[in-house]
Amino acid sequence: MSNMQFSDEFDFENRILDTSEIPEDTAESDNPLRPKNLDEYIGQDKAKENLRVFIEAAKIRGETLDHVLLYGPPGLGKTTLAGIIANELGVSVRITSGPAIEKPGDLAALLTNLNEGDVLFIDEIHRLSRAVEEILYPSMEDFAIDIITGKGQMAASYHLPLPHFTLVAATTRAGQLTAPLRDRFGVVLRLELYTPQELAQIVMRSAGILGIKIDDDGALEIASRSRGTPRIANRMLKRVRDFAQVMSDGVITVDTARTALDRLEIDELGLDRNDRRMLEAIIKFYNGGPVGVETLAAAIGEEAVTIEDVYEPYLLQIGFLSRTPRGRCITAEACRHLGYDFPKGAINAMPTQPNLLDSQDSQ
Ligand code: ADP
Repeated sequence: MSNMQFSDEFDFENRILDTSEIPEDTAESDNPLRPKNLDEYIGQDKAKENLRVFIEAAKIRGETLDHVLLYGPPGLGKTTLAGIIANELGVSVRITSGPAIEKPGDLAALLTNLNEGDVLFIDEIHRLSRAVEEILYPSMEDFAIDIITGKGQMAASYHLPLPHFTLVAATTRAGQLTAPLRDRFGVVLRLELYTPQELAQIVMRSAGILGIKIDDDGALEIASRSRGTPRIANRMLKRVRDFAQVMSDGVITVDTARTALDRLEIDELGLDRNDRRMLEAIIKFYNGGPVGVETLAAAIGEEAVTIEDVYEPYLLQIGFLSRTPRGRCITAEACRHLGYDFPKGAINAMPTQPNLLDSQDSQ
């Protein structure tokens, strides 16, 4: 195989397990795979049932819903849920993100253009600048902002009332929010990685919408390799369809799913070459850990945030990594899966569950 082919294939594989959105997934509001109401939204039962009660209560009282903070790894359905909240309330949703709101004036423009009761969705809220955050507080609390124009003696302050709105904010990093901001959300919901059974339902639903033929076992096979993440499951479904069209008259069976995903080097637990490279680096270069995330990132040529937001949540969930105060450690389970002996003298730390509300120090 030439180098050229090798790197092409690598990019291809990378795209499938990448949890960030790519143009194929988006076209935001008209993504046909996005559930439109709570009944279509599969899994996340705890968050969903709580939301159902809060939405119903707000409707009965004729008030706006309290501000909602959604947190959890990328691709789990936070944006989808913001749209659903608006639909269930019968209002419109405006979608923006922390980095897109550069100046206080940008936020003021967004807020003054809302209609009474609307939902404002701010993705990546942890990336808002301090100056923008300062005017977000009073707007969340009092539905008003104070605008200062001019300087020195010419300065004038205007108190601008705003329509009542619901802020739905999403973050992968709840630990990075300032306490005053976090305290202003009445509803805080953590989204969990999905079980293979829930993901299989999502795959079946998406296949139905896209007109893809698939059987139950084929769906479960894709689901089991999707790292608990609907965005990955949907993307895998589309890639496996390509193989099925060529291999088995377009029907996705367990065999076509297996062959396709093996060809894409995604193993039966959903680990790809990047995960394996990272885990192997901990075993080979750091004797199983502990190793700080910055050091590990430099060793494998990745960004520390990518390791923390994209690779780690799933590896922690399946007990392949543990997080200790001194850094990341490999577990005996991971060594077994990768076919390595557990390094002599390494600490077999108990697997830890990711807690995204912990402040995420860059250990
Ligand atoms: P996030 O905002 O958390 O990154 P999204 O809301 O963009 O994630 O979801 C990614 C994709 O996964 C959506 O396009 C949607 O099709 C699918 N999805 C997410 N959650 C669910 C769910 N509970 N049921 C069905 N599909 C879902």
